[in-house]
Amino acid sequence: MEVDYLIIGQGICGTLLSRQLLQHGKTIMVIDEGSPLSCSKAAGGIINPVTGKRLVSSWLIDQLLPFAWDTYTSFGAELGTPIIQRSDILDFYPIQETRSIFIERQEDGNEYLGLESDEEQWAEYFRFNYGIGKIAPCMLVDIGAMLSKWRQRLNEGYMLRQEKFDLQQCTITNDGVVYKGVKAKKILFCDGVASMHNPYFDRLPWSADKGEALAVSIPGLPATQIYKQGNISIVPWRSGLFWVGAAHDWKFTDMQPSAAFRKRVEEQLNYWLKLPYTVIDHLVAQRPANVDRKPFAGLHPLHPAVGIFNGMGGKGCSLAPYFAHQFAQHLVNGTPITPVVDVCRYRKILSRESF
Ligand SMILES: Cc1cc2nc3c(=O)[nH]c(=O)nc-3n(C[C@H](O)[C@H](O)[C@H](O)COP(=O)(O)OP(=O)(O)OC[C@H]3O[C@@H](n4cnc5c(N)ncnc54)[C@H](O)[C@@H]3O)c2cc1C
Repeated sequence: MEVDYLIIGQGICGTLLSRQLLQHGKTIMVIDEGSPLSCSKAAGGIINPVTGKRLVSSWLIDQLLPFAWDTYTSFGAELGTPIIQRSDILDFYPIQETRSIFIERQEDGNEYLGLESDEEQWAEYFRFNYGIGKIAPCMLVDIGAMLSKWRQRLNEGYMLRQEKFDLQQCTITNDGVVYKGVKAKKILFCDGVASMHNPYFDRLPWSADKGEALAVSIPGLPATQIYKQGNISIVPWRSGLFWVGAAHDWKFTDMQPSAAFRKRVEEQLNYWLKLPYTVIDHLVAQRPANVDRKPFAGLHPLHPAVGIFNGMGGKGCSLAPYFAHQFAQHLVNGTPITPVVDVCRYRKILSRESF
């Protein structure tokens, strides 16, 4: 079997890149082992235009936000199910200082920050003493629906192999790749944290980040908004549940669900939420993050048949649509990738191979 591109991984990155390449009329084969819990499957799906305690606008967000909206809207139409919805963040200030920072930023002119005009309507559901800010527009991506529907499409078109990819069995030359009977012009790694152990890309400045969240049932809470207090968000999620998270841990020693995280979240919910809730699941996954917090997209500087689309960190939902489009254009038409995203910005370290 011969295809243009062999794509490893069908998380957010492999999904959006494979769709782009098909739209360009290219042929593909996607290999994904189908693990029940990947990074994309553990994610809340939030696109929040502001970042961190200081509430600065996220990098490139004015371009990323409308692009993401258009991409997920058209993709949802194609898949026959909506996969994006507008869902603004109600930011319940935990202390007076966070309120002051929010209002300061708003007065500085950050157009994504506003105030909730009718705070009283939330008193039925939450305890809060310092008021509520509003971050808008925010979006919520139904990643679960997108991945499963696209997987089904790939399967129906004989473009998916559900198996673990093994680099040892792959022959790569400058002209192309052969893997278990599939001949491709290029191999594109969209395999999330697995790329940290790939000899072509293990020298990139990865900075793995263990993430945790809880899937929680909260009968009676409107599934119309994202509710945030400090570093915990309650997010309308799949199967009528809410996703509550998330933790970041860059010094983790194992990938087990941590009792400390669950205790911290439950203590916060017990104080903040007036409604009863039940924890249904505890999700754990590693984010493919890196030191300069920009994605990796492009072809290896020494191996023209090997590419990567990865490094989305905690912002895969907003970054992946824009850069999947850009990377596909690069592959098909040779147009440039934004230099701070092009993996060739690490040409020097990628030239010291670790085979
Ligand atoms: C708890 C948590 C919450 C998050 N919340 C958000 C959020 O609200 N908004 C947001 O934008 N981002 C969020 N993120 C980050 C987001 O999930 C990532 O940016 C994104 O999922 C990365 O997607 P990916 O496709 O690069 O990797 P992955 O989702 O890890 O996909 C890689 C795929 O490759 C497959 N694979 C790997 N190795 C092999 C192999 N050898 N053979 C076959 N298949 C293989 C895996 O099974 C997987 O399907 C969150 C992350 C976590 C952990």
